[in-house]
Formats: sequence, C-alpha cells, structure tokens
Amino acid sequence: MEGRSGKQTTASAPLLSTQKLLTKLIAALRSKGDGQYRLDRVVEIVSDAMNVDVCSIYLHVDFETLELCASKGLKSSAIHKTRLKRSEGLVGQVSVTASLVNTARAPQEANFSYRPETGEERYSSFLGVPILRPGQTLGVLVVQTKEPRTFDRLEVTTLEVVATVLAEMRETGTITGEGRALSAPHSQPVTYQGQIAHRGLAEGQILLHEPQVIISRVVSEDCDRELERLEKALKKLRGNVDQILDAEHVTVAMNSEQREVLEIYRMIANSSGWVNRVKSDILAGLSAEAAVEKEQSEARAKMEASPDAYLRDRLHDLDDLFHRLLRILTGQGRKVDDQLPDNPILLARNIGPAELLEYGRGLRGIILEEGSIGSHATIVARALAIPLMIQAKGIIAEALDGDAVCLDCNKGLIHLRPSESVATAFHNRVEVTANVTAKFSQSRDLPAITRDGVEISLYINAGLLDDLPNLRPSGAKGVGLFRTELRFLAANKFPTRTELARQYSRVLDSADGKRVVFRTIDIGSDKVVPYLKREDEPNPALGWRAVRICLDKPALLKMQMQALIRGAKGRPLTVMFPMIAGFGEFQQARQIALDQVERERVLSGMVPERVEIGAMLETPSLAFTSHKFYELADFISIGGNDLKQFFFAADRQNERVRNRYNSLYLSYLTLIKHITARCRAAGTPVSYCGEDAGQPQVAVCLAAMGVHAFSIRSASLGKVKYLLRQVCLKDIAEDIDQAQEAGVVSFEAGIERVLANVREYDEVVAAT
Ligand code: PEP
Ligand code: MG
Repeated sequence: MEGRSGKQTTASAPLLSTQKLLTKLIAALRSKGDGQYRLDRVVEIVSDAMNVDVCSIYLHVDFETLELCASKGLKSSAIHKTRLKRSEGLVGQVSVTASLVNTARAPQEANFSYRPETGEERYSSFLGVPILRPGQTLGVLVVQTKEPRTFDRLEVTTLEVVATVLAEMRETGTITGEGRALSAPHSQPVTYQGQIAHRGLAEGQILLHEPQVIISRVVSEDCDRELERLEKALKKLRGNVDQILDAEHVTVAMNSEQREVLEIYRMIANSSGWVNRVKSDILAGLSAEAAVEKEQSEARAKMEASPDAYLRDRLHDLDDLFHRLLRILTGQGRKVDDQLPDNPILLARNIGPAELLEYGRGLRGIILEEGSIGSHATIVARALAIPLMIQAKGIIAEALDGDAVCLDCNKGLIHLRPSESVATAFHNRVEVTANVTAKFSQSRDLPAITRDGVEISLYINAGLLDDLPNLRPSGAKGVGLFRTELRFLAANKFPTRTELARQYSRVLDSADGKRVVFRTIDIGSDKVVPYLKREDEPNPALGWRAVRICLDKPALLKMQMQALIRGAKGRPLTVMFPMIAGFGEFQQARQIALDQVERERVLSGMVPERVEIGAMLETPSLAFTSHKFYELADFISIGGNDLKQFFFAADRQNERVRNRYNSLYLSYLTLIKHITARCRAAGTPVSYCGEDAGQPQVAVCLAAMGVHAFSIRSASLGKVKYLLRQVCLKDIAEDIDQAQEAGVVSFEAGIERVLANVREYDEVVAAT
C-alpha cells in the first residue's frame, strides 16, 4: 500500500508519510487556542508535509456560499473576505460534484475563476478535495503549486484523509465570517426553512431516527488493530444482513425482481470493492470508523449526483450498510425498545411508511431532510395528522438528539434550539391555536347549515384504522374517502384477502353504522408499493395507475372487492374507483365489482344489504363525458388534488408549479359548477374530497358552486363548519359570477372581502 510504505514516487511527493502527517495534525487539533488557530495550523502542516506552495480551506457559510477560512500561501488579507458561489471556480466545482479536481494547469480549466485579492494567479497546479460528512459537503481543501504538475495517487489519498479529519473537527463549518471562531457548534439557535407537507405547529425535542454516529477517534497508529476491528464488524454486519433478508416475512410473496433487489443488497454487503477502499484508508492512518464514514460520505455524494434512479437506489443500500457498520463499530445507535423522549419530533433524512407507523401517533412532528409531498411518509403523516416538514436541508448535521425544537409547519420554519423569546412566542401561538380549535369543535353537533338554508354534509378522510377514533369527536357523518391503498403501502408484502377483509370489517365496526366510502386501491404514480413490480414511466402521474392497473390486472380488483364484500358482513357497502377517465372505464370496473357480489352470493350467501358504486372525478375528461355516466354512477366524489393537477397541467408533487394555481381560480370554480350542474341534472349526489376543501375559504366557494358534501381531514372540520354556518352561498355565487364576467383570474381576494365581516374569521385563518 502506498500510504503504508510512504514510498516517494516523484521529486515533489510528500516529505512526510500520511501517518506522521496525521499524528502532527491530531497534536495540532488538540492544542490550546481557538478554532481559527487550529485551522491555521492544519494548512501549515499540510503545506509543509506535501511540499506545496499553497494549502487552503474553504468552508460553506451556507448552502450557496463558500468562504476562504484558512490559507498558507494565498494572501492573508483574503481570508474570510473571499467568498465563492457554490458552483464558482474549481473550488465550487469540487463542492457541487463532491469529487476531486486534479489539474496541472488550473488557469486553463474552463471553470477557473480568477480572484485577484488572493494572488492565486501565480499558481498553476491545483488539487481540491471535498470535505464531506454523509449527505453534506462542508467545504473544500485545496493545495496548489507554482510548478505545473498533476498530483499523484499518494498525494490525493493524503489530502482526502486530511479532509476526513477536517470533517470530523467540531470547528469545521462554524469558523466563517470575519475570522471569528463562533461559539461551540450544536449549541446555538438555528432556523431552517423547509417545505410544508402537512400543516400544524409542534414544540418538543428532536428524536433522531438514525442518531448520528459521533466519531471521537479519527486516526489510529495501530492499523493492524483497526483492520481487525473492521473484520469483526464486517462479520457481524453480514450476519445481520443475512438475518434480515432471510426473515420469512421478507421473502414470502415476493416476485423474482424484488428478490433480486434484496440479493443485490446482500451482494453489496459482501463485495470487496468498498471494503478494500476502507482498508486502504485505515492503512493510511484513519481509525476503522473514520475510514467507513469517509466511504459513506463519498457514496452519498455519488448517490446525490447520479441521474440514474436504479444506481441511486443501490447507493442508498450502500449508505444504509455503512450506517449499520458504523453503529456496530462504535456501539452507538438506538435500540428498538428505547424509551422515546417527551414530545418527540422525529428527524430523519427520509423514512418509509412502515417505520413511521411504528412510531405511531406518539410523535408530535416530523422533519425530513429529503421527502416529497407525495411520498408515503407524507401520506402516512397526514393520515396520522402529524405536522410534517420536508426538504429541510442541512438540519441533520446540526441537530442532536434531545435538542429543543419549534416546528412551524404553517410558515415552513424550524427553530432548532430556539432562543427564549422565540420559544415563548411560539408557545403562545400553539396555545392560541389549540384554544381556537377547541372552540370550533364545540359546534360539532350543530348542523352545517348556511345562512341561506343549504345543508352541507361533512365527512372525514381516513386510510388507517388509527383514523377511526377521530370520527365520533369530529361530528362527521362518516368517512367520505377511505384510502385503501395505505394498507398496501405500509406493508412489506402483499396483504391477503383474509387480512384485508378483517381490516375492512374493523373499519365498519369502528364507524358504527356511519357511511364509509372505500376508495379501491389507488396505486401507481407517487404511490409506489414496494413489493409490486414497477414500470419505469416517463410521466408516472399520467401513467399506469389506479383503476387503469385494476382494469389491466382485474385479479387485483376482484380480490379487493371480495375482501370488501366479506368485510361488510351483510352491512351496506360503498365503493368508488379512482382516476376514472371515461364512461367505459367506469362501466368495466363497476361490472367487475357487481360480478364479485354475485360470486359471493353464490359462494356464501352473505352479501351487503346494499351496494353503492361511485366514481372519483379526477380527470377533466370525466366532466365532459356522456350523461349516461352521471346517471349510472350512484354518486360522484371530486378528487380535487388530482383534478386540479390535470386541469392546470401542474404536477401536484412539483413544488415549483404546485402552488402556481389554486382552487379559487375562476376557471376551476367554473369547472366545479359545470360538474355539480351535471350531477344535479342526473339526480346523482356529488361530494368533494380534495385537500383544499379543508381550507374554510375554499370550502365556502366550492359550496357556492353546488358542492354540498365535503370529505376533509378531521382537524379541519370544525373550522369549515364554523364558517359555513355564517355565509350566504347565493351571495357568494353571485360574486363569483361577477368576478368571472369581469375577467378576474382568481377569487382569492374576492372571498377575503366577503369573509372580512364574518365573526372571528381571523381566528379561523389563524387556525388553518
Ligand atoms: C384527490 O386526488 O383529490 C384525492 C382525494 O385522492 P388522492 O389525494 O389520494 O390522490
Ligand atoms: Mg387522487
């Protein structure tokens, strides 16, 4: 190994072996003095040891900006003055790609950016390596020489190992701005922005899903011992992986492709490629855990950069294995039966639905660094009514288990370790909101009748058995949308017909005679069932999903219908199909459903006393289909989430366009009016079950357009009812007509004007 022998391959190769360099570095890092002093020592030691003219450390001030924080060789006046955009220059290139740049003639490189204040024009060769933590680039470590040459393998390894040591330094990332060493990391208040996936406020303490493994020993002089530790840990890891993958519940009911994926996971655990890299880093002087973390950081960086989804998934597996290995090596990590802290707010990079369900309703809030609006975690968090923030970049590196946190999923802010004043103000808001919600829920037993005498029926959306306890206290008439696919998404194998029948039966038991509308399985698009073969599609939202899958693979729909019929145990059964785009599809799906009723009648004699079959109206085409459809459907439920995305051609999962248009656009309200008029003409009841109807100001407009039944989250019910009872739908309908006449685009301002006079409207808005 190059690092071990310290063999010098060129005249200008390192003067010191990597081992000795690391020993010097550690001594410098343990020395007294502030963080800036230690960084200054690092650049001096590295430039001497590697015999280079320049050694510099650039650190991220924020996600977009890098700052020159220490340098031996560049002008000292530039330190803490020179700042680069994330993608600017060769340094920026290293940061964005999280991979090294090694060139003999830097000024001739396309990305070279000249900064006169540093005096770097005199230097020709450039070697830059990223300073990485798993999932995060903290900065860039650079060496330069006047003499044009490329750096050899040993020099590259040396610099990468130094970067690993820097990544583990507590100071890294905190010594930016005017050269001041900021106070100790992980102790200051920090505010992060994220995207709101489920609204609400929560105060509590951070519960790390995968507590960060803290590496207290970065280097070791006894590489044989470290290699031995690694071997032992690898043996344990491989044993664990075999155990997990051979568990019966994982392998049963899997198709060959899924088994193949698991086998790849096992192969990665056993592969020698990454293990060899870890070993050579140990030989270069890193401790086993630091070497593993170095590999993990690099794998993560590749994962993020890879455009290939398949490769990304494999790298994700590798990342997961590294994390397990680190836990074995350091003995850190959470045990399954560990006690949860009070008011836990879960923090994870990403999380699967099954894992989230394991935490259950005990969580006050959830923060994800990744995640998306349509992810399973989002669906489950919504079903559990837990505030959820996604895309909260950078928080994992900063947060520690048990840190105080105020999660503001109404404004998209996370206050980590809030100052006293922020915490107090936030607490007051939480109290006000709780009081307002309690006040609105007092009207739960009053009818939702508008001032002009229209009675509106309110139902709740549900998808898990856990949701049903909300039904009675909410005062709702029943469940207007039961998302049956959640059971499929949360499982790790295909549920059997008997299991499903049992679940449906328990749902109806809990509903205690109230109406439950079961929406047949709505998978595909964003709702990916892990154990079903998945097609790669260019536009999954417009692809093979929902009823389209069921019509192409009728066995699935038949099985689910049989489970529903059996679960009903003679009670009335109401089902509807998602994503119907035309009359023909509805006829086919309905026929399959009715055939199953006949089949069950013959087999057991036990069928529901009444079967109602409806359709979700989620595609604009259905709004204009034959009147025969409207006559045949027993009821219609407008799936506003999808209808809106198809109507505006704006992906509901794409944050860029999702909020560009809204349900108060006059064009959309006109579409709703058209649909309700057609339903009225056919004598077919119509309801609305998109999320937007949970916003009281939207609900009143939809009601004015003729929607007289809503299915919404139970938490929104009180507010919607409170407002509905105070408005005159006829007046609002007239205002909407006038706005449409006048060429107004959106009725947002219009409805605000109407509601300005409504009692306590401000409170309704505050609680929304
Ligand atoms: C909808 O599209 O409005 C709907 C209720 O279904 P989902 O959000 O589950 O797609
Ligand atoms: Mg939908």
